[in-house]
Amino acid sequence: MNFSDLGLSQEILSATSDAGYTEPTPIQAQAIPHILGGRDVLGCAQTGTGKTASFTLPMIDMLSRGRARARMPRSLILTPTRELATQVSENFETYGKYHKLTMALLIGGISLDDQTRKLDRGVDVLIATPGRLLDHFGRGGILLTDIRILVIDEADRMLDMGFIPDVERIVSLLPRTRQTLFFSATIPPEIRRLSDAFLTDPVEITVAPNTHSAAETVVQHLTIVPRSDKREALRRIIRAENVGTALIFCNRKRDVDILFKSLTRHGFGAAALHGDMDQARRQQTLDRFKEGEIDLLVASDVAARGLDIDDLPAVFNFDVPTHSEDYIHRIGRTGRAGRDGRAYTLATPEDGTYVAAIEKLLGNPIRRLDVDGIAGESLENGPRARRSARSRPAREPTQAPRASAKTTNRSARKAERRNEGGKVPAGPVVGLGDHVPEFLLKPARRPSP
Ligand code: AMP
Repeated sequence: MNFSDLGLSQEILSATSDAGYTEPTPIQAQAIPHILGGRDVLGCAQTGTGKTASFTLPMIDMLSRGRARARMPRSLILTPTRELATQVSENFETYGKYHKLTMALLIGGISLDDQTRKLDRGVDVLIATPGRLLDHFGRGGILLTDIRILVIDEADRMLDMGFIPDVERIVSLLPRTRQTLFFSATIPPEIRRLSDAFLTDPVEITVAPNTHSAAETVVQHLTIVPRSDKREALRRIIRAENVGTALIFCNRKRDVDILFKSLTRHGFGAAALHGDMDQARRQQTLDRFKEGEIDLLVASDVAARGLDIDDLPAVFNFDVPTHSEDYIHRIGRTGRAGRDGRAYTLATPEDGTYVAAIEKLLGNPIRRLDVDGIAGESLENGPRARRSARSRPAREPTQAPRASAKTTNRSARKAERRNEGGKVPAGPVVGLGDHVPEFLLKPARRPSP
């Protein structure tokens, strides 16, 4: 399948080719013809699948006909976070470079006045977080009666973040005759209820989520060390595995700061991304990371939400995530759009239960990686084991660093041989906790001819 088979304009084809894309991703191949045909779409797809381009590309072509009136945007994209909103706007800029569409971004942390001026001149595309949009609406700065296309992106995140009442209110302010594109990584019953309410006769497209493609393209490693050796183990893996750039996840905000300071003290180019940083500083840190000024970005799950970095070679879990789906989200930051990626997880023996849940979700054991100079441990499962692991005194690193890392653990080695170099083979679609909804087990629909 080529981009040219999808019905997109020559300008869009040039922009995708400038972006270096050779072929559409499955969500793009399946959604774009329907969107251009005016259908509502319910897309079950995660970040990393190319879902943003699946709606921005056709929207640019559709909006290129016609002009926006003052304070009456023609399309609205609702996203749960500012970062995601910013990324969507970057997508419009990248793919819309041969068009003259106008755009406004209504998110916290950027000047209301600038955005109001833009709205006053008329915008084709309005990208907003729900709260900020309602603020503007409440002040009378905006009319939503000209919205022809509505996109709700990452609906399940909106649900997690408590934004659904705002979204419902916003949708009630829109014209009934409109095209609605609704994306969610998972479709729990509450999301299904919303999609039933917002969409008219939608085409439902499920692409094997990123969980799956990440598991295929990301070579994963697990190192088990005593808690007190984690920072040392991290430094040694970074050196031994020649990790240049990486995103490092911690479970707690507090640890983000501690780890960032420790890495800096040891001479690494590191920065921290906090959920409570103001927008300007977050953006500045992200830009420095994207431009390669910082090698290691330490973040919490919330801070890294929606973060999209092309070509990120590695992700570290400094802590094992307690929700197995978060593991999949985290490692999905690398190995995007078919590229190779590496993921390293540092576990302590008492993380046994969490690691078991992740491996169950993956359908495979994660390849064990020993770090020279640090005494390896094994995982222990269950509350009794956790107590005994906690009571064991932490050990210090035993040798001078001569960094090298090797795979251990018989079952992981066996899996590795089976999987050609550690890549996890295609198995059942996973990524939604222990329960896999039935619709995900059905094959994705083929695009209509
Ligand atoms: P998304 O799922 O929208 O977060 O996109 C994930 C990444 O895939 C982004 O960095 C896009 O630049 C990239 N991407 C989107 N479409 C394609 C494509 N057809 N080929 C290669 N990369 C793509």
